[in-house]
Amino acid sequence: MKVTILSHTENPDQLCAKIGRYSNVLETWEELDRKIPSGGWETFLRKVIKMGHTSVLEHAVFTFEITGVSRVFTHQFVRHRIASYLQKSFRRTKIKELILPKSVLEAAEDPEKLQKAAETLYREYYRRGVPMEDARYLAPMGSETAIIATFNGRTLLESFFPLRLHQTAQFEIRAIANEMLRLVKEIAPVIFQDLEVDEKLLQEYKSSFGKS
Ligand SMILES: Cc1cc2nc3c(=O)[nH]c(=O)nc-3n(C[C@H](O)[C@H](O)[C@H](O)COP(=O)(O)OP(=O)(O)OC[C@H]3O[C@@H](n4cnc5c(N)ncnc54)[C@H](O)[C@@H]3O)c2cc1C
Repeated sequence: MKVTILSHTENPDQLCAKIGRYSNVLETWEELDRKIPSGGWETFLRKVIKMGHTSVLEHAVFTFEITGVSRVFTHQFVRHRIASYLQKSFRRTKIKELILPKSVLEAAEDPEKLQKAAETLYREYYRRGVPMEDARYLAPMGSETAIIATFNGRTLLESFFPLRLHQTAQFEIRAIANEMLRLVKEIAPVIFQDLEVDEKLLQEYKSSFGKS
């Protein structure tokens, strides 16, 4: 799994703070820069978030590229409706690998054989001339895929992270949510201040999940 931020709102903490401030002062946007709240923008943003005025966080957006993940993950991921997605097409691109959890790899007598066996039907029918878009019906859920997603700060903070960092979420999506959090915390440390990256889980993912 690899998560990359392709683009993001410039200085999201300050932008959201200023937007929060804009609502209750007479100043124009330009004038706001000369009217820094007592305690500074960071303290002000914390107050805005604490009082629940979190619609200001919708003005900060983050676009992620997530590669080397399974269809199991993307199926769960795209259920988060308050985001925008583009997934690699199964009609146009051949399956390269299977992304498999440790339990499956350990249970396999020969992981390489398993990789081949699981893909056999798909590949076999593709070789017989069945179009990719039809052969994909025979592909396993662990088939490798990639997705681009754009989330706003509010969806991440109030919806996606609480659900997918939680221990009840499945291991792969939980690891990816942690990696996404690690990246957005570097860009918007104030917005995501209350959420902690589970480094242990990320390490566990690296040593136990992946291609056979
Ligand atoms: C541990 C776990 C297990 C799960 N198991 C299953 C399962 O077995 N089967 C299954 O189908 N799904 C399952 N899901 C998916 C889950 O039901 C949600 O579809 C998914 O987590 C996206 O959450 P969301 O709808 O809150 O997010 P979003 O779609 O991003 O919505 C964000 C928020 O916007 C509001 N909202 C969005 N659309 C509407 C609407 N139409 N009406 C009212 N409010 C709306 C809600 O407040 C919502 O919380 C599971 C999720 C988790 C975390």
